[in-house]
Amino acid sequence: MSVSIEAYRPIVGTQFIDELYKIAEHINERSIQHINSTPVGGGVAEILHRLVPLTNELGVKATWDVIKGSEEFFNVTKAFHNALHGSDDEITDDMFEIFRETTRDNLTTMNLYGDVIMIHDPQPAGLIAKKNEIGRKWAWRCHIDVSRPNKKLWEFLREYVVQYDASVFSMPDFSQQLPITQFLITPSIDPLADKNMDLEQSFIDSILEKYAIDPGRPIITQISRFDRLKDPVGVIQAYKIVKKRYDVQLVLAGGGASDDPEGAAVLQEVQEMGADDPDVKILLLPAYSDKEINALQRASTVVLQKSIKEGFGLTVTEAMWKNKPVIGGATGGIRKQIIDGVTGYLVHSIEGTARRIIDILNDPKHAELIARNGFEHVRNNFLLTRHLKDYMLVMIALERDGSDVIEL
Ligand code: UDP
Repeated sequence: MSVSIEAYRPIVGTQFIDELYKIAEHINERSIQHINSTPVGGGVAEILHRLVPLTNELGVKATWDVIKGSEEFFNVTKAFHNALHGSDDEITDDMFEIFRETTRDNLTTMNLYGDVIMIHDPQPAGLIAKKNEIGRKWAWRCHIDVSRPNKKLWEFLREYVVQYDASVFSMPDFSQQLPITQFLITPSIDPLADKNMDLEQSFIDSILEKYAIDPGRPIITQISRFDRLKDPVGVIQAYKIVKKRYDVQLVLAGGGASDDPEGAAVLQEVQEMGADDPDVKILLLPAYSDKEINALQRASTVVLQKSIKEGFGLTVTEAMWKNKPVIGGATGGIRKQIIDGVTGYLVHSIEGTARRIIDILNDPKHAELIARNGFEHVRNNFLLTRHLKDYMLVMIALERDGSDVIEL
């Protein structure tokens, strides 16, 4: 489904959309070719599905190609992904060979034609080998946190990355020191996607009914994979402190436990902790539950993201966009989104989380103000249209490399 850039005008303001058109004019007929490793599933594909047509609509030619690889290749890149996040998975020379082989195949079969070629994440990173032959401007857009990678793997990947004209990271904390230009572009959400669009109250009510959640009492929600780093156990403990004084309900909803043994163990632990309390709803959501997640977030009184460690934390952005007061663990990208006491609350402990939930329940007027600030913060900084602007600015900056300031 294609949504016009004009649909964003009432959301982000006419001035911002006009600015996008102006920036597009400065791109001078140059095109951008995005390349990643999957056409569906995952945040990168989700964003590209929307970004590419919107870029074209602004008059900048944008295309998107996907590399091909065997199951074996994707097992290797999955191990790479984990190892870049610092897991202890062993990285072998055979894996490097499989990576090189698939890279060679794609170099032969793929048409690399963009004036700017933006390569997303490690899987297609080896395509840079073509740069010597065809020139163009190349950017490596890294969506993952590579600040503490497996050393052997990073040395291998770095050989490719340093050949790019520029790197693009989501946050300074995720990046690596490199001898090439570095851009920082934070992730974004699409306000018109199923997960974030306005919903009819009747749909929200139907979801509450489906899960036997009482709309008449406060609802505390955390949407997350069942992962220890999201601290669902801590969430239940905080809820139990609050529950001594307030008649609240807790919704812990997430997926990803079925194919993840660790996730299944966490889920079981959480289910046991909540078993004696009918006001604790542990919901195992199937993939593609976007509208349901949207409804649960919109029905909430308070949204938690009590992570101990976090990437960017898109659930925080999503909840703020729905005008909810958000309480988040003081880690990763949550710290970028929550300005403590202004756009939400940052917490460091279970007791602190309970305390902030109680503050919100005690002073709904103040909670409303915080939620409003959070909404504006997202509108100004974390929507897809800002992402679009940043990618166009990268195109311009790459064309004029060397200059620190570019006047348009
Ligand atoms: N999400 C989902 N289903 C789930 C749990 C989460 O679709 O069962 C979505 C959630 O709404 C958000 C994303 O997955 O858009 C999670 O991103 P986040 O950055 O919060 O955490 P990650 O899971 O990437 O660590």
